[in-house]
Amino acid sequence: MSEQSPGKGSGQLAGGGRMLAGWGRTAPTVATTRRVADGAAEVAELVRRAGPRGLVARGLGRSYGDPAQNAGGEVLLPLPTRIEHEPDGRPGTVRVSAGTSLHDLMAELLPRGRFVPVTPGTRYVTVGGCVACDVHGKSHHVAGSFGRHVVSLELVLADGSVHEVGPDRDPELFWATVGGMGLTGVITSAVLRTIPVESSWMTVTTTRHPDLDSVMEEMRTGDRDVTYSVAWIDTLARGRSLGRSVLTRGEHARRDELDTSAAARPLVAPGGARLRVPPGVPGGLVRPLTVRGFNEAWFRRAPRHRTGELQPLAAFFHPLDGVADWNRLYGPRGFVQYQCVVPDRAADTVALVVDRVARQGHASFLSVLKRFGPGDEAPLSFPMPGWTLALDLPARAGLAPLLDELDRLVAAVGGRVYLAKDARLDPARLPQMYPRLADFRSVRRRVDPTGVFRSDLARRLGL
Ligand SMILES: Cc1cc2nc3c(=O)[nH]c(=O)nc-3n(C[C@H](O)[C@H](O)[C@H](O)COP(=O)(O)OP(=O)(O)OC[C@H]3O[C@@H](n4cnc5c(N)ncnc54)[C@H](O)[C@@H]3O)c2cc1C
Repeated sequence: MSEQSPGKGSGQLAGGGRMLAGWGRTAPTVATTRRVADGAAEVAELVRRAGPRGLVARGLGRSYGDPAQNAGGEVLLPLPTRIEHEPDGRPGTVRVSAGTSLHDLMAELLPRGRFVPVTPGTRYVTVGGCVACDVHGKSHHVAGSFGRHVVSLELVLADGSVHEVGPDRDPELFWATVGGMGLTGVITSAVLRTIPVESSWMTVTTTRHPDLDSVMEEMRTGDRDVTYSVAWIDTLARGRSLGRSVLTRGEHARRDELDTSAAARPLVAPGGARLRVPPGVPGGLVRPLTVRGFNEAWFRRAPRHRTGELQPLAAFFHPLDGVADWNRLYGPRGFVQYQCVVPDRAADTVALVVDRVARQGHASFLSVLKRFGPGDEAPLSFPMPGWTLALDLPARAGLAPLLDELDRLVAAVGGRVYLAKDARLDPARLPQMYPRLADFRSVRRRVDPTGVFRSDLARRLGL
Protein backbone atom coordinates (compact mmCIF):
# COMPACT_ATOMS: atom_id res chain seq x y z
CA MET A 1 0.00 0.00 0.00
CA SER A 2 1.17 3.51 -0.73
CA GLU A 3 2.52 5.76 2.01
CA GLN A 4 -0.83 7.53 2.33
CA SER A 5 -3.21 5.86 4.74
CA PRO A 6 -7.02 5.79 4.67
CA GLY A 7 -7.09 7.32 8.13
CA LYS A 8 -5.71 10.75 7.25
CA GLY A 9 -7.75 13.39 9.06
CA SER A 10 -9.08 10.71 11.36
CA GLY A 11 -8.17 9.24 14.72
CA GLN A 12 -8.60 6.17 16.91
CA LEU A 13 -10.87 6.78 19.93
CA ALA A 14 -11.12 5.00 23.27
CA GLY A 15 -13.72 2.23 22.96
CA GLY A 16 -12.56 1.09 19.53
CA GLY A 17 -14.39 3.68 17.44
CA ARG A 18 -12.54 5.81 14.98
CA MET A 19 -13.20 9.35 13.81
CA LEU A 20 -13.33 9.42 10.02
CA ALA A 21 -13.60 12.41 7.73
CA GLY A 22 -13.50 13.03 4.02
CA TRP A 23 -10.74 15.05 2.35
CA GLY A 24 -12.63 18.32 3.05
CA ARG A 25 -12.77 17.47 6.81
CA THR A 26 -16.12 19.20 7.26
CA ALA A 27 -18.24 16.48 8.92
CA PRO A 28 -16.25 13.81 10.80
CA THR A 29 -18.16 10.95 12.42
CA VAL A 30 -17.24 7.89 14.47
CA ALA A 31 -17.43 4.33 13.15
CA THR A 32 -15.95 0.93 13.95
CA THR A 33 -13.29 0.20 11.38
CA ARG A 34 -12.43 -3.28 10.11
CA ARG A 35 -9.21 -3.74 8.21
CA VAL A 36 -9.48 -6.45 5.60
CA ALA A 37 -6.40 -8.66 5.42
CA ASP A 38 -7.46 -11.06 2.73
CA GLY A 39 -10.00 -11.38 -0.07
CA ALA A 40 -13.68 -11.88 -0.79
CA ALA A 41 -14.31 -14.67 1.76
CA GLU A 42 -13.24 -12.46 4.67
CA VAL A 43 -15.28 -9.53 3.35
CA ALA A 44 -18.31 -11.81 2.93
CA GLU A 45 -18.04 -12.88 6.58
CA LEU A 46 -17.83 -9.24 7.75
CA VAL A 47 -20.83 -8.33 5.60
CA ARG A 48 -22.90 -11.22 7.02
CA ARG A 49 -22.06 -10.09 10.56
CA ALA A 50 -22.75 -6.36 9.93
CA GLY A 51 -24.58 -4.66 12.80
CA PRO A 52 -27.83 -2.65 12.66
CA ARG A 53 -26.11 0.56 11.45
CA GLY A 54 -24.75 -1.29 8.45
CA LEU A 55 -21.42 -1.08 6.71
CA VAL A 56 -19.60 0.72 3.93
CA ALA A 57 -16.21 0.25 2.26
CA ARG A 58 -13.59 2.99 2.37
CA GLY A 59 -10.64 3.52 0.08
CA LEU A 60 -8.06 6.21 0.85
CA GLY A 61 -10.67 8.76 1.98
CA ARG A 62 -10.01 11.12 -0.95
CA SER A 63 -13.67 11.86 -1.53
CA TYR A 64 -14.27 15.31 -0.13
CA GLY A 65 -17.52 14.73 1.75
CA ASP A 66 -19.00 11.79 3.66
CA PRO A 67 -19.49 8.80 1.30
CA ALA A 68 -16.81 6.71 3.03
CA GLN A 69 -18.11 7.35 6.56
CA ASN A 70 -20.82 5.50 8.49
CA ALA A 71 -21.69 7.14 11.83
CA GLY A 72 -22.24 4.50 14.50
CA GLY A 73 -21.79 1.66 12.02
CA GLU A 74 -18.89 -0.17 10.42
CA VAL A 75 -16.37 0.87 7.80
CA LEU A 76 -14.21 -1.64 5.90
CA LEU A 77 -10.69 -0.41 5.19
CA PRO A 78 -8.90 -1.34 1.95
CA LEU A 79 -7.92 -4.81 0.88
CA PRO A 80 -4.18 -5.29 0.55
CA THR A 81 -2.51 -4.50 -2.78
CA ARG A 82 -2.55 -7.38 -5.23
CA ILE A 83 -1.86 -7.06 -8.94
CA GLU A 84 -2.00 -9.81 -11.54
CA HIS A 85 -0.91 -8.95 -15.08
CA GLU A 86 -2.88 -10.19 -18.07
CA PRO A 87 -5.29 -12.49 -16.15
CA ASP A 88 -6.72 -15.27 -18.31
CA GLY A 89 -4.16 -14.32 -20.98
CA ARG A 90 -5.97 -11.08 -21.91
CA PRO A 91 -3.29 -8.71 -23.22
CA GLY A 92 -3.15 -5.21 -21.71
CA THR A 93 -5.36 -6.04 -18.73
CA VAL A 94 -4.68 -6.32 -15.00
CA ARG A 95 -6.62 -7.89 -12.15
CA VAL A 96 -6.19 -5.75 -9.02
CA SER A 97 -7.52 -5.95 -5.49
CA ALA A 98 -9.91 -3.06 -4.84
CA GLY A 99 -7.65 -1.55 -2.18
CA THR A 100 -4.78 -1.07 -4.63
CA SER A 101 -3.94 2.62 -5.00
CA LEU A 102 -3.38 4.15 -8.42
CA HIS A 103 0.06 5.13 -7.08
CA ASP A 104 0.96 1.47 -6.57
CA LEU A 105 -0.68 0.43 -9.83
CA MET A 106 1.34 3.02 -11.78
CA ALA A 107 4.53 1.75 -10.14
CA GLU A 108 3.72 -1.71 -11.53
CA LEU A 109 2.54 -0.60 -14.94
CA LEU A 110 4.98 2.11 -16.02
CA PRO A 111 8.15 -0.02 -16.19
CA ARG A 112 6.15 -2.30 -18.54
CA GLY A 113 5.15 0.60 -20.78
CA ARG A 114 1.52 0.67 -19.62
CA PHE A 115 -0.56 3.28 -17.80
CA VAL A 116 -3.89 3.52 -15.96
CA PRO A 117 -6.83 4.18 -18.30
CA VAL A 118 -8.13 7.19 -16.36
CA THR A 119 -6.54 9.10 -13.51
CA PRO A 120 -8.13 11.74 -11.27
CA GLY A 121 -6.10 14.68 -9.90
CA THR A 122 -4.54 12.52 -7.17
CA ARG A 123 -3.04 9.03 -7.45
CA TYR A 124 -3.70 8.34 -3.73
CA VAL A 125 -7.05 6.78 -4.50
CA THR A 126 -7.98 3.11 -4.63
CA VAL A 127 -9.35 1.14 -7.56
CA GLY A 128 -12.50 0.43 -5.47
CA GLY A 129 -12.97 4.17 -4.85
CA CYS A 130 -12.40 4.96 -8.55
CA VAL A 131 -15.08 2.49 -9.61
CA ALA A 132 -17.54 3.50 -6.88
CA CYS A 133 -17.25 7.20 -7.89
CA ASP A 134 -16.74 6.46 -11.61
CA VAL A 135 -13.94 9.02 -11.56
CA HIS A 136 -12.93 11.11 -14.54
CA GLY A 137 -9.63 12.63 -15.56
CA LYS A 138 -8.35 15.27 -17.94
CA SER A 139 -9.07 12.90 -20.84
CA HIS A 140 -12.80 12.46 -20.28
CA HIS A 141 -13.69 14.06 -23.62
CA VAL A 142 -11.87 11.21 -25.42
CA ALA A 143 -11.58 8.36 -22.89
CA GLY A 144 -14.76 8.64 -20.79
CA SER A 145 -14.70 7.80 -17.09
CA PHE A 146 -13.23 4.90 -15.12
CA GLY A 147 -16.16 2.51 -15.58
CA ARG A 148 -15.68 2.40 -19.35
CA HIS A 149 -12.34 0.60 -18.84
CA VAL A 150 -13.54 -2.05 -16.39
CA VAL A 151 -13.79 -5.57 -17.83
CA SER A 152 -15.30 -7.12 -14.69
CA LEU A 153 -15.72 -6.65 -10.95
CA GLU A 154 -15.79 -9.12 -8.08
CA LEU A 155 -18.52 -7.93 -5.76
CA VAL A 156 -19.66 -9.09 -2.31
CA LEU A 157 -23.40 -8.54 -1.96
CA ALA A 158 -25.47 -7.83 1.16
CA ASP A 159 -26.22 -11.55 1.76
CA GLY A 160 -22.50 -12.38 1.68
CA SER A 161 -22.60 -13.99 -1.77
CA VAL A 162 -19.73 -13.24 -4.16
CA HIS A 163 -20.49 -12.30 -7.79
CA GLU A 164 -18.55 -11.47 -10.89
CA VAL A 165 -20.27 -8.66 -12.79
CA GLY A 166 -19.37 -6.75 -15.95
CA PRO A 167 -20.91 -4.83 -18.83
CA ASP A 168 -21.99 -8.20 -20.27
CA ARG A 169 -22.66 -10.01 -16.99
CA ASP A 170 -25.54 -8.61 -14.92
CA PRO A 171 -25.03 -5.22 -16.59
CA GLU A 172 -27.71 -3.59 -14.42
CA LEU A 173 -25.82 -4.42 -11.24
CA PHE A 174 -22.47 -3.62 -12.86
CA TRP A 175 -23.53 -0.11 -13.92
CA ALA A 176 -25.26 0.55 -10.58
CA THR A 177 -21.96 -0.33 -8.87
CA VAL A 178 -20.00 1.98 -11.18
CA GLY A 179 -20.67 5.38 -9.59
CA GLY A 180 -22.79 3.65 -6.92
CA MET A 181 -20.85 5.13 -4.00
CA GLY A 182 -20.28 1.75 -2.33
CA LEU A 183 -24.02 1.15 -1.82
CA THR A 184 -24.55 -1.97 -3.96
CA GLY A 185 -21.81 -4.11 -2.36
CA VAL A 186 -18.11 -4.31 -1.57
CA ILE A 187 -15.87 -4.49 -4.64
CA THR A 188 -13.04 -6.86 -3.83
CA SER A 189 -11.21 -6.85 -7.15
CA ALA A 190 -11.45 -5.49 -10.68
CA VAL A 191 -10.11 -6.44 -14.10
CA LEU A 192 -9.10 -3.25 -15.92
CA ARG A 193 -7.86 -2.41 -19.40
CA THR A 194 -4.65 -0.39 -19.40
CA ILE A 195 -3.19 1.84 -22.12
CA PRO A 196 0.26 1.65 -23.75
CA VAL A 197 2.76 4.50 -23.19
CA GLU A 198 6.30 4.93 -24.51
CA SER A 199 7.51 7.01 -21.57
CA SER A 200 6.59 8.40 -18.17
CA TRP A 201 6.90 11.94 -19.54
CA MET A 202 4.33 14.30 -21.00
CA THR A 203 4.67 16.89 -23.77
CA VAL A 204 2.73 19.88 -22.52
CA THR A 205 1.28 22.95 -24.22
CA THR A 206 0.30 25.91 -22.04
CA THR A 207 -1.70 28.96 -23.14
CA ARG A 208 -2.87 31.96 -21.13
CA HIS A 209 -6.36 33.34 -21.75
CA PRO A 210 -7.56 36.82 -20.74
CA ASP A 211 -11.16 35.78 -20.04
CA LEU A 212 -13.63 32.90 -19.91
CA ASP A 213 -14.95 33.31 -23.47
CA SER A 214 -11.47 32.97 -24.87
CA VAL A 215 -10.60 29.77 -22.99
CA MET A 216 -13.99 28.17 -23.66
CA GLU A 217 -13.76 28.87 -27.36
CA GLU A 218 -10.30 27.32 -27.46
CA MET A 219 -11.52 24.21 -25.61
CA ARG A 220 -14.65 23.95 -27.76
CA THR A 221 -12.67 23.94 -31.00
CA GLY A 222 -9.39 22.32 -29.99
CA ASP A 223 -10.02 19.72 -27.25
CA ARG A 224 -11.07 17.00 -29.65
CA ASP A 225 -7.51 16.92 -31.06
CA VAL A 226 -5.79 16.45 -27.69
CA THR A 227 -5.86 13.66 -25.14
CA TYR A 228 -5.54 15.62 -21.88
CA SER A 229 -6.89 19.12 -21.36
CA VAL A 230 -7.76 21.25 -18.33
CA ALA A 231 -7.99 24.97 -17.57
CA TRP A 232 -7.16 26.66 -14.29
CA ILE A 233 -9.43 29.65 -13.70
CA ASP A 234 -8.74 32.70 -11.56
CA THR A 235 -12.11 32.94 -9.82
CA LEU A 236 -11.22 36.20 -8.10
CA ALA A 237 -10.66 38.15 -11.33
CA ARG A 238 -13.66 40.36 -12.14
CA GLY A 239 -15.01 42.61 -14.83
CA ARG A 240 -13.34 42.17 -18.22
CA SER A 241 -10.92 39.65 -16.73
CA LEU A 242 -13.69 37.40 -15.40
CA GLY A 243 -12.54 33.83 -15.91
CA ARG A 244 -8.99 34.61 -17.00
CA SER A 245 -7.21 31.29 -17.11
CA VAL A 246 -4.31 29.07 -17.99
CA LEU A 247 -5.09 26.15 -20.30
CA THR A 248 -2.82 23.11 -20.08
CA ARG A 249 -2.89 20.28 -22.58
CA GLY A 250 -0.71 17.21 -22.77
CA GLU A 251 0.11 13.99 -24.54
CA HIS A 252 2.18 11.01 -23.42
CA ALA A 253 5.65 11.72 -24.81
CA ARG A 254 7.02 9.33 -27.42
CA ARG A 255 10.58 8.01 -26.99
CA ASP A 256 11.81 10.13 -29.89
CA GLU A 257 10.52 13.30 -28.16
CA LEU A 258 12.59 12.85 -25.00
CA ASP A 259 15.68 14.95 -24.33
CA THR A 260 18.86 13.23 -23.23
CA SER A 261 18.18 13.29 -19.51
CA ALA A 262 14.59 12.01 -19.90
CA ALA A 263 15.71 9.39 -22.43
CA ALA A 264 18.09 8.00 -19.82
CA ARG A 265 15.07 7.08 -17.64
CA PRO A 266 12.11 6.82 -20.01
CA LEU A 267 9.78 4.74 -17.82
CA VAL A 268 9.97 5.59 -14.13
CA ALA A 269 7.23 5.37 -11.53
CA PRO A 270 6.25 8.58 -9.69
CA GLY A 271 7.87 9.01 -6.24
CA GLY A 272 6.14 9.85 -2.96
CA ALA A 273 5.27 13.26 -1.51
CA ARG A 274 8.29 15.51 -0.88
CA LEU A 275 6.64 17.81 1.68
CA ARG A 276 4.18 17.31 4.49
CA VAL A 277 1.90 19.83 6.20
CA PRO A 278 2.35 19.32 9.96
CA PRO A 279 -0.66 18.49 12.13
CA GLY A 280 -2.00 21.46 14.10
CA VAL A 281 -1.07 23.99 11.43
CA PRO A 282 -3.05 27.16 12.25
CA GLY A 283 -6.37 27.47 10.45
CA GLY A 284 -7.24 30.22 8.02
CA LEU A 285 -4.02 30.19 5.98
CA VAL A 286 -6.26 30.06 2.92
CA ARG A 287 -7.88 33.50 2.97
CA PRO A 288 -9.12 35.77 0.16
CA LEU A 289 -5.94 37.86 0.42
CA THR A 290 -3.52 34.92 0.18
CA VAL A 291 -5.55 33.35 -2.60
CA ARG A 292 -5.67 36.62 -4.54
CA GLY A 293 -1.87 36.88 -4.36
CA PHE A 294 -1.43 33.24 -5.36
CA ASN A 295 -3.82 33.53 -8.30
CA GLU A 296 -2.15 36.69 -9.56
CA ALA A 297 1.31 35.10 -9.38
CA TRP A 298 0.11 31.85 -10.96
CA PHE A 299 -1.48 33.64 -13.90
CA ARG A 300 1.54 35.89 -14.50
CA ARG A 301 4.04 33.04 -14.16
CA ALA A 302 2.33 30.98 -16.85
CA PRO A 303 3.76 31.56 -20.35
CA ARG A 304 1.45 33.24 -22.86
CA HIS A 305 2.03 30.28 -25.12
CA ARG A 306 4.49 27.42 -24.78
CA THR A 307 4.44 24.11 -26.66
CA GLY A 308 6.30 20.84 -26.30
CA GLU A 309 7.51 21.31 -22.71
CA LEU A 310 8.54 17.96 -21.19
CA GLN A 311 7.03 17.34 -17.76
CA PRO A 312 7.24 14.26 -15.54
CA LEU A 313 3.91 12.49 -15.51
CA ALA A 314 3.32 13.19 -11.79
CA ALA A 315 3.82 16.96 -12.25
CA PHE A 316 1.27 17.00 -15.06
CA PHE A 317 -1.43 14.80 -13.52
CA HIS A 318 -0.92 15.12 -9.78
CA PRO A 319 0.85 18.35 -8.80
CA LEU A 320 -0.89 18.37 -5.41
CA ASP A 321 0.43 14.94 -4.45
CA GLY A 322 3.86 16.53 -3.89
CA VAL A 323 2.57 17.89 -0.57
CA ALA A 324 1.06 15.28 1.75
CA ASP A 325 -1.98 16.36 3.80
CA TRP A 326 -2.31 19.70 2.00
CA ASN A 327 -5.98 19.73 3.05
CA ARG A 328 -4.78 20.78 6.55
CA LEU A 329 -3.92 24.21 5.14
CA TYR A 330 -7.65 24.97 5.33
CA GLY A 331 -7.59 24.61 9.12
CA PRO A 332 -9.95 22.66 11.37
CA ARG A 333 -13.15 23.98 9.74
CA GLY A 334 -12.12 22.36 6.49
CA PHE A 335 -13.31 23.15 3.00
CA VAL A 336 -15.82 22.13 0.39
CA GLN A 337 -15.14 21.27 -3.18
CA TYR A 338 -18.03 22.39 -5.33
CA GLN A 339 -17.96 20.50 -8.63
CA CYS A 340 -20.79 20.84 -11.09
CA VAL A 341 -21.38 19.95 -14.72
CA VAL A 342 -23.71 21.74 -17.12
CA PRO A 343 -24.68 20.65 -20.64
CA ASP A 344 -23.02 22.24 -23.68
CA ARG A 345 -26.01 24.42 -24.42
CA ALA A 346 -25.72 25.99 -20.94
CA ALA A 347 -22.15 27.26 -21.24
CA ASP A 348 -23.37 30.66 -19.96
CA THR A 349 -24.06 29.08 -16.59
CA VAL A 350 -20.32 28.54 -16.11
CA ALA A 351 -19.84 32.31 -16.41
CA LEU A 352 -22.73 32.90 -13.99
CA VAL A 353 -21.20 30.56 -11.40
CA VAL A 354 -17.74 32.12 -11.72
CA ASP A 355 -19.30 35.57 -11.47
CA ARG A 356 -21.29 34.71 -8.30
CA VAL A 357 -18.16 33.34 -6.61
CA ALA A 358 -16.02 36.33 -7.68
CA ARG A 359 -18.65 38.84 -6.51
CA GLN A 360 -19.00 37.31 -3.07
CA GLY A 361 -15.23 37.14 -2.59
CA HIS A 362 -15.25 33.43 -1.69
CA ALA A 363 -11.66 32.75 -2.61
CA SER A 364 -10.96 29.49 -4.42
CA PHE A 365 -7.32 28.43 -4.73
CA LEU A 366 -8.01 25.71 -7.15
CA SER A 367 -10.65 26.26 -9.78
CA VAL A 368 -10.59 24.04 -12.80
CA LEU A 369 -12.67 23.85 -15.94
CA LYS A 370 -12.93 20.82 -18.21
CA ARG A 371 -15.01 19.65 -21.11
CA PHE A 372 -16.70 16.28 -20.69
CA GLY A 373 -17.50 13.90 -23.53
CA PRO A 374 -20.44 11.46 -23.44
CA GLY A 375 -21.30 9.90 -20.08
CA ASP A 376 -21.74 6.15 -19.49
CA GLU A 377 -24.70 3.96 -18.60
CA ALA A 378 -24.24 4.20 -14.84
CA PRO A 379 -27.34 5.86 -13.33
CA LEU A 380 -25.37 7.73 -10.65
CA SER A 381 -22.31 8.57 -12.76
CA PHE A 382 -21.52 12.28 -12.71
CA PRO A 383 -20.14 13.12 -16.19
CA MET A 384 -22.43 14.23 -19.02
CA PRO A 385 -21.39 16.03 -22.21
CA GLY A 386 -20.67 19.65 -21.36
CA TRP A 387 -18.61 21.77 -19.00
CA THR A 388 -17.46 20.86 -15.52
CA LEU A 389 -16.18 23.41 -13.02
CA ALA A 390 -14.56 22.51 -9.68
CA LEU A 391 -13.94 25.08 -6.93
CA ASP A 392 -12.20 24.54 -3.57
CA LEU A 393 -13.91 26.83 -1.05
CA PRO A 394 -12.97 27.23 2.64
CA ALA A 395 -15.90 26.49 4.97
CA ARG A 396 -16.95 29.88 6.36
CA ALA A 397 -20.02 32.00 6.97
CA GLY A 398 -22.01 32.73 3.84
CA LEU A 399 -20.79 29.69 1.92
CA ALA A 400 -23.95 27.57 2.34
CA PRO A 401 -26.36 30.15 0.80
CA LEU A 402 -23.92 30.74 -2.06
CA LEU A 403 -23.69 27.02 -2.87
CA ASP A 404 -27.48 26.63 -2.63
CA GLU A 405 -27.79 29.41 -5.17
CA LEU A 406 -25.24 27.73 -7.45
CA ASP A 407 -27.22 24.47 -7.17
CA ARG A 408 -30.35 26.30 -8.32
CA LEU A 409 -28.52 27.70 -11.36
CA VAL A 410 -26.99 24.34 -12.23
CA ALA A 411 -30.16 22.26 -11.74
CA ALA A 412 -32.24 24.75 -13.76
CA VAL A 413 -30.21 23.99 -16.90
CA GLY A 414 -30.17 20.20 -16.40
CA GLY A 415 -26.78 20.06 -14.67
CA ARG A 416 -25.69 18.28 -11.50
CA VAL A 417 -23.11 18.23 -8.71
CA TYR A 418 -20.57 15.44 -8.16
CA LEU A 419 -21.46 13.15 -5.23
CA ALA A 420 -17.77 12.28 -4.61
CA LYS A 421 -17.20 15.94 -3.76
CA ASP A 422 -20.51 16.76 -2.12
CA ALA A 423 -20.95 17.48 1.60
CA ARG A 424 -24.10 19.61 1.67
CA LEU A 425 -26.55 19.12 -1.21
CA ASP A 426 -30.27 19.54 -0.45
CA PRO A 427 -31.71 15.99 -0.98
CA ALA A 428 -34.77 17.47 -2.68
CA ARG A 429 -32.54 18.44 -5.64
CA LEU A 430 -31.15 14.95 -6.17
CA PRO A 431 -33.87 13.49 -8.45
CA GLN A 432 -33.69 16.57 -10.69
CA MET A 433 -29.91 16.35 -10.95
CA TYR A 434 -29.84 12.55 -11.30
CA PRO A 435 -32.96 11.66 -13.33
CA ARG A 436 -32.04 7.95 -13.30
CA LEU A 437 -32.01 7.81 -9.49
CA ALA A 438 -35.05 5.47 -9.56
CA ASP A 439 -33.09 2.94 -11.67
CA PHE A 440 -30.30 2.98 -9.10
CA ARG A 441 -32.73 2.55 -6.20
CA SER A 442 -34.44 -0.35 -7.92
CA VAL A 443 -31.14 -2.26 -8.29
CA ARG A 444 -30.31 -1.45 -4.70
CA ARG A 445 -33.66 -2.83 -3.51
CA ARG A 446 -33.01 -6.01 -5.51
CA VAL A 447 -29.53 -6.72 -4.12
CA ASP A 448 -29.76 -5.13 -0.66
CA PRO A 449 -33.41 -5.12 0.45
CA THR A 450 -32.63 -4.59 4.14
CA GLY A 451 -30.06 -1.83 3.62
CA VAL A 452 -26.86 -3.49 4.86
CA PHE A 453 -24.73 -0.99 2.90
CA ARG A 454 -25.08 2.45 4.40
CA SER A 455 -23.04 5.61 4.65
CA ASP A 456 -23.40 9.13 5.97
CA LEU A 457 -23.86 10.29 2.36
CA ALA A 458 -26.61 7.72 1.76
CA ARG A 459 -28.49 8.81 4.89
CA ARG A 460 -28.01 12.52 4.22
CA LEU A 461 -29.29 12.34 0.64
CA GLY A 462 -31.75 9.46 1.06
CA LEU A 463 -30.01 7.43 -1.66
C1 LIG B 1 -6.64 16.25 -4.81
C2 LIG B 1 -7.83 15.50 -5.34
C3 LIG B 1 -8.08 15.53 -6.70
C4 LIG B 1 -9.16 14.83 -7.21
N1 LIG B 1 -9.39 14.89 -8.56
C5 LIG B 1 -10.44 14.21 -9.07
C6 LIG B 1 -10.65 14.19 -10.48
O1 LIG B 1 -9.90 14.79 -11.24
N2 LIG B 1 -11.69 13.45 -10.95
C7 LIG B 1 -12.52 12.74 -10.13
O2 LIG B 1 -13.44 12.08 -10.61
N3 LIG B 1 -12.33 12.74 -8.79
C8 LIG B 1 -11.31 13.46 -8.26
N4 LIG B 1 -11.09 13.43 -6.90
C9 LIG B 1 -11.98 12.61 -6.07
C10 LIG B 1 -11.44 11.18 -5.93
O3 LIG B 1 -10.84 10.76 -7.13
C11 LIG B 1 -12.58 10.24 -5.65
O4 LIG B 1 -13.33 10.67 -4.57
C12 LIG B 1 -12.08 8.79 -5.41
O5 LIG B 1 -13.16 7.93 -5.54
C13 LIG B 1 -11.48 8.63 -4.03
O6 LIG B 1 -11.00 7.31 -3.93
P1 LIG B 1 -10.73 6.64 -2.52
O7 LIG B 1 -10.06 5.35 -2.75
O8 LIG B 1 -10.04 7.61 -1.62
O9 LIG B 1 -12.21 6.39 -2.04
P2 LIG B 1 -12.98 6.92 -0.73
O10 LIG B 1 -13.03 8.41 -0.78
O11 LIG B 1 -12.43 6.30 0.49
O12 LIG B 1 -14.43 6.33 -1.01
C14 LIG B 1 -15.18 6.86 -2.08
C15 LIG B 1 -16.43 6.00 -2.33
O13 LIG B 1 -15.99 4.75 -2.84
C16 LIG B 1 -16.57 3.71 -2.08
N5 LIG B 1 -15.61 2.59 -2.07
C17 LIG B 1 -14.30 2.63 -1.77
N6 LIG B 1 -13.77 1.39 -1.87
C18 LIG B 1 -14.79 0.55 -2.21
C19 LIG B 1 -14.89 -0.83 -2.45
N7 LIG B 1 -13.83 -1.64 -2.34
N8 LIG B 1 -16.09 -1.34 -2.76
C20 LIG B 1 -17.18 -0.54 -2.89
N9 LIG B 1 -17.14 0.78 -2.69
C21 LIG B 1 -15.96 1.33 -2.35
C22 LIG B 1 -16.81 4.30 -0.71
O14 LIG B 1 -17.84 3.62 -0.02
C23 LIG B 1 -17.21 5.71 -1.07
O15 LIG B 1 -18.58 5.75 -1.38
C24 LIG B 1 -10.01 14.10 -6.35
C25 LIG B 1 -9.75 14.07 -4.97
C26 LIG B 1 -8.67 14.76 -4.47
C27 LIG B 1 -8.39 14.71 -2.99
